[in-house]
Amino acid sequence: MKTLCNYDFSGKKVFVRVDFNVPLDEGFKITDDTRMRAALPTLKKILVSGGTVIIGSHLGRPKGTTDKYSLKHLVKPLTDMLGCPVKFADDCMGKNTEATVSNLSKGSVLLLENLRFYAEEEGKPRDLPENASEEEKKAAKKALKEKQKEFAKKLASYADIYVNDAFGTAHRAHASTALMAEFFDADKKMFGYLMENEVKAVKRVLDDIARPFTAIMGGSKVSSKIEIIENLLDKVDNLIITGGMTYTFTKAEGGKIGNSIVENDKLTLALALKKKAKEKGVNLILAVDAKIADSFSNDAKTGFCDVDKIPDGWEGLDVGPKTEKLYADVIKESKTILWNGPTGVFEFENFTHGSRAVADAIAEATKKGAFSLVGGGDSVACINKFKMAELVSYVSTGGGALLEAIEGKVLPGIAAIEK
Ligand code: AMP
Repeated sequence: MKTLCNYDFSGKKVFVRVDFNVPLDEGFKITDDTRMRAALPTLKKILVSGGTVIIGSHLGRPKGTTDKYSLKHLVKPLTDMLGCPVKFADDCMGKNTEATVSNLSKGSVLLLENLRFYAEEEGKPRDLPENASEEEKKAAKKALKEKQKEFAKKLASYADIYVNDAFGTAHRAHASTALMAEFFDADKKMFGYLMENEVKAVKRVLDDIARPFTAIMGGSKVSSKIEIIENLLDKVDNLIITGGMTYTFTKAEGGKIGNSIVENDKLTLALALKKKAKEKGVNLILAVDAKIADSFSNDAKTGFCDVDKIPDGWEGLDVGPKTEKLYADVIKESKTILWNGPTGVFEFENFTHGSRAVADAIAEATKKGAFSLVGGGDSVACINKFKMAELVSYVSTGGGALLEAIEGKVLPGIAAIEK
């Protein structure tokens, strides 16, 4: 793996693609700076070894230049985090920026304006009339692709070395996340520390697996997790399918699920997945009881019942105590654990118990030496809510990117460096 660990950056200009896509409030104050903090080890390493840093990132989904998504709001917080001055280029392109880049003094830091202010970054045409024909759309895309190459080449021209530390966008083949890597020789492009850690964590659950391997897949819909579940069926020993997905399986088997969330068009798929798991010798574990509610609300009346005997007018919003034990017994004996998605509607305090039981069991297994990876959206929110991030082996920063990696897809941001 190409990493910056032993690289001597002295006298080199380094373009670092980070994921500074942080949430801002109305006063442009950062409400969660996790993503910025995650990139600090890489930025500091380059600076300490004598490099000059040019930082590129996106923020939000702008359709053009807009104050709302300007990276200028991040200059002061970044200065404080790095403990050194941060210059700002109010455009990532143009003669002024070129001049600023070429006049950067050794060891300085330059933050470029939001790369997505240019449509070239994502390569998605903007301002197409709503009634544009398929041909017009195709032509616009083709024209933009050409401009995108030039855009990537220009960004690459700013630096001697390219470092990608933006795992959150590694599943996108954008100009700064993948295309610009082509303009650097193999020994002049590498992963940052965050990216390195994410790639290593994914390897531990896809390739270098210590057994037994248990994956806990939760969340609301089978349809959004199907590719991951299918890929995992070739890897895991135990597969816990939980959360809202439970009820599609229960209904498929003829159970009574009351008003619980269900995908009626995925009943056959659920049965097929069960069959596939059996064929592959995977221990598929589904809930046996549920914590039910008489409405979708934290303050609903609640009770417990068998998962396939939910009365009319009630819905399952979390797993019950028998299921918690079933899950925990398997998790505690595991040597590799992947957790994606809660066991219930964890946003409601009264329905967090099952997810907490999963988190506790993972923490216990980790303490005994298991490798545990938590990632892909809501399970990260869950583990942070429980203040248990320190008790698992790795919490991924990449939502969609992590999920695509676990689906077995090649991420363009990773492939571009490894080429
Ligand atoms: P996902 O984004 O697919 O990982 O799904 C996470 C969402 O699933 C969370 O917002 C949970 O509230 C929701 N969820 C989990 N269990 C249930 C359930 N039993 N009924 C409805 N929603 C659920």
